[in-house]
Amino acid sequence: MIGDGVSEAAQSLSKYGVTKIYSIDHADLKNYNSAFYMAALTNIINSSGAELIIASASMTTKDLFPRLAAKFDSGYVSDVVEIKVEGASIKAKRPLYSGKCTADAEFSASSKKKFIVMRPNQYPVPAEAGATASIETVSFTIPSAKIKVKEVVKSQSSKPDLSEASIIVSGGRGMKGPEHFKILEDLAETIGATVGASRAVVDSGWVPHALQVGQTGKTVAPNLYIACGISGAIQHLAGMGSSKVVVAINKDPEAPIFKKATYGIVGDVFEVVPKLNEEFKKILA
Ligand SMILES: Cc1cc2nc3c(=O)[nH]c(=O)nc-3n(C[C@H](O)[C@H](O)[C@H](O)COP(=O)(O)OP(=O)(O)OC[C@H]3O[C@@H](n4cnc5c(N)ncnc54)[C@H](O)[C@@H]3O)c2cc1C
Repeated sequence: MIGDGVSEAAQSLSKYGVTKIYSIDHADLKNYNSAFYMAALTNIINSSGAELIIASASMTTKDLFPRLAAKFDSGYVSDVVEIKVEGASIKAKRPLYSGKCTADAEFSASSKKKFIVMRPNQYPVPAEAGATASIETVSFTIPSAKIKVKEVVKSQSSKPDLSEASIIVSGGRGMKGPEHFKILEDLAETIGATVGASRAVVDSGWVPHALQVGQTGKTVAPNLYIACGISGAIQHLAGMGSSKVVVAINKDPEAPIFKKATYGIVGDVFEVVPKLNEEFKKILA
C-alpha cells in the first residue's frame, strides 16, 4: 500500500487472505508522481524480496511498471488476462489484435524480477477470511523530482470509472440521439451501473470520449455488460470481450453482438430498456 493515509486501507485489505502487507504512508504520496512512487515501490520490492510484482491496470500502474522493470533490468508484460505458475516458470496470457488471438509470454531466467499489469476484474475478489495480515511499515525518504503534482481534480461523477465498474450499461448508435441516453442513465442508476458507449456515439458527439469502450477507448471487464443498440463490431468487442456476463439488446437478430452475448434480447431498446428498469426496480425493492 502506497499513498497518503493508507493505513486504514491496509487494515481492510488484510481480511482477504493476504499474509503480509508492506505499507508506505506519506503526505507527499497523495497524488501520483512517478519519481516518488518509483522510489516507494523500489523500497517495498527490496524490503520484501518480491520476485513477481503484479498490479491492476490503471493510468498509474501503466506508467509506473515499465519504469520499474527498466530500473530492475527485468521483464514486463502488460494487459494480462491470465497468469499461470508452472514450476519455476511464470506465464502470462495477453490478447492481441483486438482479441483476435492471444499471446503467451514467459519470463526468461535472466529476468530477476517479473512485472505484470493485469486487466482489472480478471480474478474474483477472495472471500473475507478470519485471519488478518501483518503490516510492515517501510521507511521512505522523498527523492528529488523534476515534477511536482500540485493537485488532482476529480470529475463530478459519483459513479465508478468505466474500467473499474462492475456493471456497465452501454449505448450505441441504436439509441438514435444523445437525448435518449437518459433511459440508459435511469437503468444505470437503478442497478448501480456506469454508462458506456460505442465509438459511433462518441464520434457523433453524443457523449464524451471518456465513455468509449473498445480498441480506441477503454478496456473493461465488468461482471455484467448490457449493450443497448450496439452492433458488436470487432473494435468494440476488443474492449468488452472479457466481460463475465453480456446482455445484448438489438432489434437485428443477425447483429454480431449476439455471438458474444450470454443473453440476447431481440427487440427495440426504447421498449426493452424501460421494461428492464421497471423489473429491476421491483426486484431490488
Ligand atoms: C481503427 C478503429 C478503431 C475503432 N475503435 C472503436 C472503439 O474503440 N469502440 C467502438 O465501439 N468502435 C470502434 N470502432 C468503430 C467500430 O468499427 C464500429 O463502427 C462501431 O463500434 C459501431 O458502433 P455502434 O455499434 O454503436 O453502431 P452501428 O454499427 O451503427 O450499430 C447500431 C446497432 O443498433 C441497432 N439498432 C438500431 N436501432 C435500434 C433500436 N431501436 N433498438 C435496438 N437496436 C437498434 C442496429 O441493429 C445496429 O446493430 C473503431 C473502428 C476503427 C476502424
